[in-house]
Amino acid sequence: MPVLYPPGTIGIIGGGQLGRMMIYRSKKLGFRFAVLDSEDAPAKSLSDIFINGSLKDPDALEKLAGVSDIMTYEIEHINIDALGNLESRGYRMYPCASVLGIIQDKGFQKELFVKKGIPTSSYFTCDKPESFDFSANKFPLVQKTRRGGYDGRGVRVLKNKEDAPMNSPSIFEEMIDINKELAVMVARAQDGSVAAFPVTEMAFNPDHNICDTVIAPARIDEKTASCAHEIAISVVEALDGVGIFGVELFLDNHGNILVNEVAPRPHNSGHYTMEACVTCQFEQHIRSIAGLPLGDTSLIRPAVMLNILGQKQSRGKMLIEGFEKALNVPGLSLHLYGKIESRPYRKMGHFTVTSGTLNEAIEKSEYIRNLLKIGGENTEGDSK
Ligand code: ADP
Repeated sequence: MPVLYPPGTIGIIGGGQLGRMMIYRSKKLGFRFAVLDSEDAPAKSLSDIFINGSLKDPDALEKLAGVSDIMTYEIEHINIDALGNLESRGYRMYPCASVLGIIQDKGFQKELFVKKGIPTSSYFTCDKPESFDFSANKFPLVQKTRRGGYDGRGVRVLKNKEDAPMNSPSIFEEMIDINKELAVMVARAQDGSVAAFPVTEMAFNPDHNICDTVIAPARIDEKTASCAHEIAISVVEALDGVGIFGVELFLDNHGNILVNEVAPRPHNSGHYTMEACVTCQFEQHIRSIAGLPLGDTSLIRPAVMLNILGQKQSRGKMLIEGFEKALNVPGLSLHLYGKIESRPYRKMGHFTVTSGTLNEAIEKSEYIRNLLKIGGENTEGDSK
């Protein structure tokens, strides 16, 4: 495939924070960016060409394709038939529509892992959970709807056979005794070369299941880290993917590493690379889809990233508390996504603290967590 040189135009389907950061960090290579999304999209103000439309609308996708040399996406819930159609007419897209087709369905992901001998939790699929007889199953089970879930939506733990499952085609996994949730960002270039970023540790907030904290590097031994790298790379190779991929892993209490799922795009667990690695995940993605050499993924300093979510009890025009104090902390890098409205648990921004030691970065991040708050101007009752 031909290399895309600057000032070629890269089309991004979706203009959320991932698209915004992709543009922000890759414009330095001289590319131009076209974005498809609605008018209030965070990436709009950074784009060279903006197309106002739905990510699912074939006509809007066609318009984006018409102004782009290559296309990519920052979200996986998009119209795969329309993408396949564009590909069949010669438009270039990375990762390609067939990769997205596997990833959009958790059942297909699992099938691929099993077929390729990639370690993952045991599971079964069921298209009509409401009429399935669970009496012969071992509990607890983790139910995941095959399609459409994200940030824990579409995941339910069934403790026993009295717990009602969600009525949607699903996979049911054995419950893993998780020691740590890990993630590895892996980029794969058009020539098949791969580069993995350091293994990170992710912590989730049980209130809303959104990733809360990412610690880089993960506090695991070298053998576990190299095993995590090897497995994560094997996932992206099994997909034959081109671009950056976020591979989510479980380290269980017996030292086993199991693949949970994979995202075909920059990932929340890789935001820290913007300050802590030689090349960041966003530039790495653009390098890989443009057919350029992959960059150096070395960690420069330990880092901790925290998401800044809209406060639970308010919504409306964004208000920020503790801004100056946070900006005074050495090692802090703050990213706000330009979203005007705050809503409960909306991802409004994130910050990364880099420091000489990981413990110092953790301490500073906790200090900033307690002082930096984003909410909306209208307070409301307990709205989850
Ligand atoms: P989503 O695609 O919505 O992010 P995940 O598959 O990542 O859903 O699951 C959300 C969370 O549920 C995981 O981060 C993990 O904490 C928990 N989880 C998922 N699968 C299992 C499992 N098999 N055993 C134990 N916990 C699990």
